[in-house]
Amino acid sequence: MSAPADGQQYSGAFRVATYFPAGAVTELLSRPQQLSDAVAGLKAMQAEHVFLELYRGGHEADEAVLARARDAFRQAGVRVGGGLTTTWGEGFGGPALPQPQEQGSLFCYSHPRTAEDISRLCALAGRLFDHLMLDDFFFTNCECGACRAAKADGPWSAARNRLLVEFAAKAVLRPAHRANPGCQVIIKYPQWYDRFQQFGYDAAAQTRQFDAIWVGTETRDPHAEDQFGPVQQAQSWSVYRWLADLAGAKTLGGWFDPYGCDEPSYLEQGYQTVLVGTPEMLLFNYHSLHRPQSRPLLEALMRHMPRLRRWAAALRDAKPTGLACYKPPNSTSRGEYYVFDYLTMLGIPTTMHAGFPQDARVVFLSGHALADEDVLEKARRHLAAGRSLLASAEFVAGLPADAAEELFGLRRRGSLDEGPAQSGQIRLAGAGFGSERPVEVAGVLEAAGAEVLLSWGRCEGLSPYFTRRRHGAASAMMLDIQTNALGGRTGVNITRWVNVVDLPQPVLDCIRAAVIEPLGLEICCPGRVGIYCFDGGPLAVCNYRNEPADVEIKSASASPLGPLDRLAAEQDTAAAVEARGPDLLKLHLPPRSRHLLAAG
Ligand SMILES: [Zn+2]
Repeated sequence: MSAPADGQQYSGAFRVATYFPAGAVTELLSRPQQLSDAVAGLKAMQAEHVFLELYRGGHEADEAVLARARDAFRQAGVRVGGGLTTTWGEGFGGPALPQPQEQGSLFCYSHPRTAEDISRLCALAGRLFDHLMLDDFFFTNCECGACRAAKADGPWSAARNRLLVEFAAKAVLRPAHRANPGCQVIIKYPQWYDRFQQFGYDAAAQTRQFDAIWVGTETRDPHAEDQFGPVQQAQSWSVYRWLADLAGAKTLGGWFDPYGCDEPSYLEQGYQTVLVGTPEMLLFNYHSLHRPQSRPLLEALMRHMPRLRRWAAALRDAKPTGLACYKPPNSTSRGEYYVFDYLTMLGIPTTMHAGFPQDARVVFLSGHALADEDVLEKARRHLAAGRSLLASAEFVAGLPADAAEELFGLRRRGSLDEGPAQSGQIRLAGAGFGSERPVEVAGVLEAAGAEVLLSWGRCEGLSPYFTRRRHGAASAMMLDIQTNALGGRTGVNITRWVNVVDLPQPVLDCIRAAVIEPLGLEICCPGRVGIYCFDGGPLAVCNYRNEPADVEIKSASASPLGPLDRLAAEQDTAAAVEARGPDLLKLHLPPRSRHLLAAG
């Protein structure tokens, strides 16, 4: 794969879309009066685009009802597409065996009935609509005899990726395109990008194979202690920007729902979805959002729509810049799931890349990057070109010993097989800062020439937490960040809070100071504040905390942001600009608020 540009261009006008699941098509769209109510409902939520679903979980919508609703909506000026959710239900396809507890009812894609029934529906969708979206259950963890035989001696991940790509070609794309060569077939991804490869989402192959993609930005409420887990708000940024790096102009929209949300987290999903640069925001789904418990959320979002549209306009054609995170397609890690989200939550501006971002001023390499067999050579070339690296402990521990010492000034002193060590204190320049809850570290490296900026134990050299080795103007840094908080074999989301986001501010300021020094930026703020930078502006600052946050940004003349006083502050926000000059910006943000400074 050729190295992609540092981020993708944003484009297009901003639109709102929504979705009628198959059950809601039957329940809400069968009678003429219901259709006029639904048209009014769509207008009230500013939806200009709607998806009508043919099937979900054993329920098939009636073809005549779908056709009448399509015509009524089109007549009202609403764009209409088809939807399909590949969840198993009695009488349709073959079920995955065993059925997973965490993920709902899935299909077995080796089962001949699954191919037959889905082919039939995709052909129908092609006849009814000019675009069809597969909702985010197009994955499996079936271990039946047929799936096991197809896997042979290889890993499940590769077998499932192969199975789903072949299935999509044969039973989704071919029948839809045969029925209607102009039918655009879209795959919608869930937000859990770091587990895609385990259950059949081969993002590299599928972004080539499908006509378009949509991306789940449904991070929900990290504090809710529900089945969705403490997924951090920044995950929407990681998943969207990473998939957009693969799919480019095929990336058409971002999608979120109200489940497990309170008002602050629902609004955050709205702002995150605009921030990632999507031209279209899908509010899933029409039926849920009109239930009494979700209505206040939808109404709150509608009150924010004028500002969201201004954000979308300010972000159009903006190009993200920051610490360039490298996650090769289908790569995984041992103890660093979703590590990219956490770096963003530490107030480090990030960008996401599926190919090695060789032009970036500073690149992040986690255990995922070890999937690239040429990564060591690329890392060497990067440093030789005067550009910097930040690596995780897992990445450094995965290098040959001489390379780890030469590049990072670190040596292995333990095995990752022993599991993460725990540390209660991160120490800065000899002073201890007790974090309220222990921070997990891999704890397998010792200093061998590296400058130890932070340590996790009393003996700095034996417990390096954050280190730097200078290579002329460039530096090779290591942060021992562990985010191994997945639940169960079939889990997809983080299941417990990762305490790194709550490290004391002096510790986080120290990490940020070194990591973004190559960008000509200095940022002081507590954890759980997101800073999103774009070349020449805009600049977005999001406070995800339940407490206020003070943020100070200093920018050198070589910074990609340009002079900070050229950026226009927002008027209609409680977040206050307290000081501003060409190279300094001070903001005060109330709890769960945000500020966008647009390029002038
Ligand atoms: Zn199977």
